[in-house]
Amino acid sequence: MIKKLNSFFRQKNTNNTTSPSRECYICKNKVTNFTSFRGGSKSKSTYLKHLNIIGSDRDNFGCPNCNCIDRERHLFMFFDKTNFWDNIPNSNILHFAPESNLMNKIHSLSPKKYIKADWLIENEDYQKIDVTNIPYDDNTFDSVICNHVLEHVEDYKIGMSEIYRVLSIGGIAILQTPVSRLLKNNFSDPNINTNELRKCFYGQVDHCRVFSEETFLNDLRNTGFHLEVIKHGDVFSEEDAYIYGVNKNEDFFRVKKLK
Ligand SMILES: [Zn+2]
Repeated sequence: MIKKLNSFFRQKNTNNTTSPSRECYICKNKVTNFTSFRGGSKSKSTYLKHLNIIGSDRDNFGCPNCNCIDRERHLFMFFDKTNFWDNIPNSNILHFAPESNLMNKIHSLSPKKYIKADWLIENEDYQKIDVTNIPYDDNTFDSVICNHVLEHVEDYKIGMSEIYRVLSIGGIAILQTPVSRLLKNNFSDPNINTNELRKCFYGQVDHCRVFSEETFLNDLRNTGFHLEVIKHGDVFSEEDAYIYGVNKNEDFFRVKKLK
């Protein structure tokens, strides 16, 4: 297997004509290059690079055909691979900041109740919901999807508790977020209070902190969740990551409410 991968990357690096062609996992179109996010990894400060933040792949971000982004593709692949979709028919789903392709797939599977939550928007499709104050009873939802949302939330531990509260016993939540593998503790400071400072220290103007992976996962456990960390390599190959433009370092944080 290692030999095969070495050969694959040697070919990729030296002779483009022998590289496997890339494609968007979602729209299935061939892709010469995925588009980068805000200048790609080159635009990151040395400080941010040292933090070793695992999040979106800034160099292989958008699909030029359907505009889906890497973390949506990665989750779509994960849901296919782990048969997550089997949880959808006749069940209650809460989806924060819903990605359009995941949303369309969920709709096609006839959930009993599908709440699409947005922080700011309220219309016939979206319900304005603050993750720290979810207006539903305990044990309402069979699945919660919250993909790269908690890094935007000041009181994220209340958000975790709220997701736990509304999740039914036996329910599953997918709680992806960018995390640093260098930091022992989360990094934030009240004086980092301008767009310029937040962009410099947190990576985006609308992020509230840099999560430590260790702290984030401990917080999930302390909330009461049963936590499963599924690595990209547990379910996909490195070649998959290259072809579909997803981050091979991004793990999947799948949690369950057992009691
Ligand atoms: Zn696409």
